[in-house]
Amino acid sequence: MRAVVFDDFKTFPVLKDIEKPTPGPGEVLLKVAGAGACHSDVAIFEDFEANNPAGLKPGFVLGHENSGWVEEVGPGVSGITKGEAYLIYGPIGCQHCRACSRGQDTYCENAATNPYLGVGLGRNGGMAEYVTATARNLVPLGDADPVAAAPLSDAGLTPYHAIKLALPKLNGGGKFALVIGLGGLGLVGVQILKALTGATIIATDAKPEAMAEAEKLGAVTVPSGSDQVAKIREITGGRGVDAAFDFVGISATITTAMQSMALQGRCTIVGIAGQPYDWSFFGAPYEVELTSTYWGTIEDLYDVVELYKAGQVVPQYTTFSMDKALEAYQLLVDGKISGRAVVTP
Ligand code: NAD
Ligand code: ZN
Repeated sequence: MRAVVFDDFKTFPVLKDIEKPTPGPGEVLLKVAGAGACHSDVAIFEDFEANNPAGLKPGFVLGHENSGWVEEVGPGVSGITKGEAYLIYGPIGCQHCRACSRGQDTYCENAATNPYLGVGLGRNGGMAEYVTATARNLVPLGDADPVAAAPLSDAGLTPYHAIKLALPKLNGGGKFALVIGLGGLGLVGVQILKALTGATIIATDAKPEAMAEAEKLGAVTVPSGSDQVAKIREITGGRGVDAAFDFVGISATITTAMQSMALQGRCTIVGIAGQPYDWSFFGAPYEVELTSTYWGTIEDLYDVVELYKAGQVVPQYTTFSMDKALEAYQLLVDGKISGRAVVTP
């Protein structure tokens, strides 16, 4: 079968023929419906040689946001039928520690000795005709379109998890949320904020087209520029935003977010650019929480699927055939994708 393989650091992925996998005990083989191309994949092949906190090694199929139809079930799997559509929860922890037991494989206590981080992150992913996953990692889609759903397993799950943890800051009237970076994750993030809170959503991106998309989703936009923080604060009546979500994570965007915060707000860095931020006691309003986040729990993914089925989250995406999968990654590298690129093998 054909697959997009991360072959080496500092090397663009390659499209090649590899063996079709067979499902092991407790696993299911899925015919891939859709595989989203995430900017984290770009970080893996461009930056992870020097800065690789997860210890990922080259030599696996990319694609960590996947959906598919059941093709075959492995030994010991019951209750899953050929042809059913599922979304794959990508993180794979040891599945028996405290974190994994609550469905939070991302913070597995045995991460140091696990063989991989997840599907498409060390273990072969979904940028291929077929993919395997443990039955426990499958979230049922029912009749919902699996192609449009594919990005939700990261581009939906990650903002959902971050926003859910910030809800105490956004409960009540007159609240403001800031979203920086309106790509695959950010545009879904705007919709999740709309669905879960009554907050006014202020959004920004370096690309005017991305801001136009966010406006269609009900956000107020503020372009980049030296007066950006002043404009954001003006929209909030001078108070600042109660929660910020930075889907870029460079020093400049973290600084913008922190300077835009209200007292006691929560600023979540989602983007993995990994740049520093120069915090000082008087440099940020009192009791502002600055935090990072990584993906989400399997239960969060069930919630995201409910939002999708209810039409409250509508992923924005463009499909690419397997022949065009590398083109999709090149467009992502060049910043020319609007929403998500979904490969449909
Ligand atoms: P994307 O390429 O689809 O979107 C990024 C958006 O940010 C683009 O619209 C781009 O124009 C905008 N942007 C870039 N620089 C900017 C700047 N200086 N100011 C304003 N806007 C800017 O990327 P994505 O797939 O949505 O991923 C976003 C980030 O989140 C990436 O860093 C990715 O690696 C990371 N990510 C983190 C997690 C996690 O668990 N923490 C999960 C998935 C992705
Ligand atoms: Zn674990």
